[in-house]
Amino acid sequence: MQAIEAPEFCPSCDSSLEWKNDLLYCVNSLCPAQVQKRIEHFAKSLKIKGLGPKSIEKLGLSSFQSIYDMTYLEIRDALSSEKLAIKLLQEITHSKKSSMNELLPAFSIPLIGKTAAEKLSTKINNISELNADKCKAAGLGPKATENLLNWYFDEFLFDLVRLPFGFSFTKSEQQVSKGVVCISGKLKSFKTKAQAQEVLAKNGYEVKSSITKDVTILVNESGIESAKTKTAQDKGITIVTNLLEFLGEENGNVA
Ligand SMILES: [Zn+2]
Repeated sequence: MQAIEAPEFCPSCDSSLEWKNDLLYCVNSLCPAQVQKRIEHFAKSLKIKGLGPKSIEKLGLSSFQSIYDMTYLEIRDALSSEKLAIKLLQEITHSKKSSMNELLPAFSIPLIGKTAAEKLSTKINNISELNADKCKAAGLGPKATENLLNWYFDEFLFDLVRLPFGFSFTKSEQQVSKGVVCISGKLKSFKTKAQAQEVLAKNGYEVKSSITKDVTILVNESGIESAKTKTAQDKGITIVTNLLEFLGEENGNVA
C-alpha cells in the first residue's frame, strides 16, 4: 500500500496548512477558497436564493459587502439573464431585513451559531450592547465569548458594521411570555404605572389591570392589603414589593 502524503500548502492560496483535530486547515482568512465558503454560508443562512457557489463565482463576490454593492446591470451581465438578475436583487434586498438572530450565525464565527444568537437575544437588543458580561449572563462559554468578542472588535467594528442591517435581535415567543404581571396600588420605584409597564414589557412581561387566571406576579409596593393582594395570596401568586429590585435581580442590572 502506498502512503498518501498530506499537502503542506493550501491549493487555493498557497499558505501553509495547519493540523487541527486530525484535519488540515488553511488559516489564511483572506484565502479565496475560504472567502467563497464564507459567502456561501452567509447567503445560505440568510436564505438568499440564487446565490450558490456558481453564482458567487460568476458574480466575482469577494466579501459580504460586495453582495450589497452589486447593481442590477452588473448582476444581469454576470448571470446573462434579466429574469435571474431581478429575482436575485429582490432576494438580496429582502435579506436586509434579517435580524441578528439569523445574521450572527451567518458570519462563520467558530462556536457561534443559532443557539448562541438566541441566548444573546435574551440579554441584549442590539449587537452594539455586546460585552464580556453580557456574554456571560447569556450563558456563553469562555471560548465562544472569546471568539465572539474577537470577531466583534476585529471584524465587526472595523468593517462589517457598514453592512446594510439594523443588527438588532428579535425576542422569541418564549421570552415574551415570561409572566403576567398585575400592579396593585401606587408604585414607589416607578413614577407612573405606564413607565413600569413599559419596562416590564421590555423585560418580557405582560401587564394586566386585574387579577385574571393567567396572572403570575402581583406587584404591591404600597403595602396596603388591597382586595387584589388578598386574591393573590389566596391563589398563591408571587407578590413583589419592590418592582425595580425584582427586575434588577433578574437581569443583573437595572432596566
Ligand atoms: Zn487557503
